[in-house]
Amino acid sequence: MSIETSIGLATGQPYPYQRTELVEPDHRRYPGWADVTDEEWTSVQWQRAHCVKNVGQLRALLGDLVDERFFADLERDQAERATMSMLVPPQMLNTIASRDVPAGPGSLTEAWYADPVRRYMLPVFSDRRTDWASHPHATRDSLHEHDMWVAEGLTHRYPTKVLAELLPTCPQYCGHCTRMDLVGNSTPQVAKLKFVGKPVDRHEAMLDYLRRTPAVRDVVVSGGDVANMPWPRLEAFLGSLLEIENIRDIRLATKALVGLPQHWLADDVRAGVERVASTARARGVSLAVHTHANHASSVTPLVAAASRALLEAGVRDVRNQGVLLDGVNADPHALLDLCFALLDGASITPYYFYMCDMIPFSEHWRVSVADAQRLQTAIMGYLPGFATPRIVCDVPFVGKRWVHQLHSYDTDRGISYWTKNYRTSIESGDSEAVSRTYEYYDPIHTLPESGRAWWAEHGDLDTAALKAAEAAAASRRTARAQLG
Ligand code: SF4
Repeated sequence: MSIETSIGLATGQPYPYQRTELVEPDHRRYPGWADVTDEEWTSVQWQRAHCVKNVGQLRALLGDLVDERFFADLERDQAERATMSMLVPPQMLNTIASRDVPAGPGSLTEAWYADPVRRYMLPVFSDRRTDWASHPHATRDSLHEHDMWVAEGLTHRYPTKVLAELLPTCPQYCGHCTRMDLVGNSTPQVAKLKFVGKPVDRHEAMLDYLRRTPAVRDVVVSGGDVANMPWPRLEAFLGSLLEIENIRDIRLATKALVGLPQHWLADDVRAGVERVASTARARGVSLAVHTHANHASSVTPLVAAASRALLEAGVRDVRNQGVLLDGVNADPHALLDLCFALLDGASITPYYFYMCDMIPFSEHWRVSVADAQRLQTAIMGYLPGFATPRIVCDVPFVGKRWVHQLHSYDTDRGISYWTKNYRTSIESGDSEAVSRTYEYYDPIHTLPESGRAWWAEHGDLDTAALKAAEAAAASRRTARAQLG
């Protein structure tokens, strides 16, 4: 092959791959951090103590670099739309508008408005749609995880795997969080569900279920975020899990690897991970860490150092499960830039991109199944097969399906129909569970005019029915919790 041909292969492609070095933006560019030392910055205690939890703290950090209009927009969103309370560690804030150099009052306003990380961590009112801010089928527990609890916080949806929600908090709160029903503090719009049992009792009930259920071999240990669980308690839980013979896969879910890598770099945590990984290896159990990065700008040298520390401690793999979000990453270049930053820079394997779930006020983030299919096709062929992420739709009562797996699709009304080949824990007596179809809904603003007109006529009726169904589900949960 001639040099010209090989250059042509590199540059004439729809996506021009280029290896890029990771960068840790200089935090001192923000007035509130002008005197923060590198030692403070790399301390997990300093990071946790300086998280931004309200508009006033953000204003104090940014000074007059961002116009008052932005803060008012954010304040209105918190009051009228937000399903998650505000909590952003300095590490994450520092990746916002990181390439823009402050040049006086208001100079970063547009960069803050446009920034992909800001758009999902600190949504403002003007980001949201005003026609259909929520889909009529949006629900608080859109995946019906609570309905499938076999012990409080333990969701048994798939035949061989479970999700263990150990705690309802995270070091950072993402605006689009699927578990907005449970995770984080209540907002003016959402009174959060509270776990009824004490943590120690809930965790023991989970372990007890797993001991009694040999069909389960795989546990996603999640929350919330496991980085918010005091390490000795997490290690104790993992130790008990590793003693259960049927458990062969354990995956720790932590966005903190990206949002607060300082946690996973702390000496006590590294030493603890090493102990757990060593036991897992001795017992032939695969221990992996799953994280959640949505944009290449989040992948910095500190994130790479934390990922490598986990791998050196003996974790088998660190994988990324991002969320496909319009305005953040729903574009082939943004997805591939992120995947290469993860793979080349941080030894993190791109694994999934979930379509954003049908929670309230998420329509401005969601994309249609057709767009998700186009994106999946557009990113094929650039990454190694093992690191080519699957874009998946988490279909209510079904679970993850690759976006090309749908059974049928009404593109006019934006309703896709899906099937499954297993029963969830609430369908053991349901003879039609594996033969019926299940629905997923595209955002209404993406539909042709006739489809939008159909929803304008029928949307309210569906909302009323859904509210009734939600109320019934809530009272079922309360009754179950009271039964203990
Ligand atoms: S880290 Fe995960 S669980 Fe926590 S708020 Fe973000 S999406 Fe939700």
